[in-house]
Amino acid sequence: MSTPEQKVTAAQQSEPRTYQLLIDGKFVDAASGRTFETLNPTTGAVLAHVAEGDAEDVNRAVAAARRAFESGPWAKMTPHQRGKIIYKAAQLISERAKELAELETLDNGKPIRESSYVDIPQTVQHFEYFAGMADKLQGDTIPIGGNVFTYTMREPIGVCGQIIPWNFPLLMAAWKLGPALAAGNTVVLKPAEQTPCTAMELGKIFLEAGLPDGVLNIVPGFGEIAGAAISHHMDVDKVAFTGSTEVGKLIAEAAARTNLKKVTLELGGKAPNVVFADADLEHAVEGALFSIFFNQGQVCCAGSRLFVEESIHDEFVERLANRAKSLRVGNPLNKDTHMGPQVTREQLDRIKRYVGYGEEAGAKVLAGGRSPEAEELQNGFFFTPTILDCVTNDMKVAQEEIFGPVVSVLTFQNDKDLLKQANDVVFGLSAGIWTRDIKRAHRFAKSVKAGVVWINTYNMFNAAMPFGGYKQSGYGREMGFQVMDAYTQCKSVWVDLSENPIGWFSN
Ligand code: ADP
Repeated sequence: MSTPEQKVTAAQQSEPRTYQLLIDGKFVDAASGRTFETLNPTTGAVLAHVAEGDAEDVNRAVAAARRAFESGPWAKMTPHQRGKIIYKAAQLISERAKELAELETLDNGKPIRESSYVDIPQTVQHFEYFAGMADKLQGDTIPIGGNVFTYTMREPIGVCGQIIPWNFPLLMAAWKLGPALAAGNTVVLKPAEQTPCTAMELGKIFLEAGLPDGVLNIVPGFGEIAGAAISHHMDVDKVAFTGSTEVGKLIAEAAARTNLKKVTLELGGKAPNVVFADADLEHAVEGALFSIFFNQGQVCCAGSRLFVEESIHDEFVERLANRAKSLRVGNPLNKDTHMGPQVTREQLDRIKRYVGYGEEAGAKVLAGGRSPEAEELQNGFFFTPTILDCVTNDMKVAQEEIFGPVVSVLTFQNDKDLLKQANDVVFGLSAGIWTRDIKRAHRFAKSVKAGVVWINTYNMFNAAMPFGGYKQSGYGREMGFQVMDAYTQCKSVWVDLSENPIGWFSN
């Protein structure tokens, strides 16, 4: 009989899998015949060989999505029938939860406790919520008076290109697909080249759930090739993107230069997470840890700028550093691991560079700041939970997104000083505040320029709560009823009810 450790080793060493593109209901090779490798970041070994989509494959996928949108069973289905297919997919994901969680951990490196208790259940909840949304979309009758009857209708937009990142591979696919399919659109999805595996499994699940051919097409490939082909395509009606601000700007530019496809962008962040002296400090220490070290810090809303009120600074950072040093970094398939590897060697190198920038500028490393020394971790892309103290808001480590387990600690003197610093950044995705003073908390929520504010908590998500950014964190909202604006057109209809209509030019 094998011990749990032996099973983990076996899973880490399994033979590479292979994945093809999903186009028009069939799994097919790339037109070029090319494939790329996705690595297991824990071991550096090849996890899968994946068909590499390019512009020609995107053309095929868009043509299939167009056919499915204009004709075929999807176009004729009632919203209720669409909702049932999405709900069935949610059930199938639930049935395969364990296997999908393990695959997500192998491909991305996130701890199995996160993929099992966050990524997969949130994906299921997301599809369940949007299954229910399908038949709740409605227009308005608008009482403008006079002899007219006026109403609005919501219609799907058409062919949607969806380009997603590698930090929550399956969940980001769900955020994008749930509302798009609920509204009756068709989709060409491009998973991130670093983590394509679970999206391809999702393709199989949707076919099994009864989604008609061509409604969901999945084209894994590289950003500058397959992603750019989607954002430049003349027959894509909308593109939804989650990723870096830099690429978000390229997507918006491509849309503007081609067919003015509609664009929604969920981009980077540099969230202020604020601890006031009156907070429950134990709770705030745990919250600060969770806000930055969850998913190895690879979260766009991570609390990466930790503002601590000056009077409690020394005590707070000492407690935080002790807790950070106690986190277990290691094989993410072990149930007790807190932090796995970063997703790629490039990301690891980038994080190391940023720690260097911080030190050069005068920041002090209170914890971490390096890769772990354990021999069995040397082939993977591991980094230790890192706390940079004595950071000021003008430093690179306070202004730029590091996207790793590195928190910059800053201090503030009072509410005014805090707000000035908190908002002095190009991003505006999220913010957190820890205080027992409810007036102060709500004042902060009102004044901070961020799309999401957590009070005495952090990283809470629900399919019903909108999420998205201010400033260069993007535009549009995901989730809730708000996201449906991004996936529907509003049509206004005017009906003349007058018995004797008179023409404008009749006298
Ligand atoms: P990161 O830097 O964290 O990898 P990116 O913004 O580069 O984030 O990637 C997010 C997604 O955008 C991925 O699916 C990637 O392939 C895609 N992407 C990258 N560059 C482009 C581009 N020029 N056009 C369209 N998509 C792109």
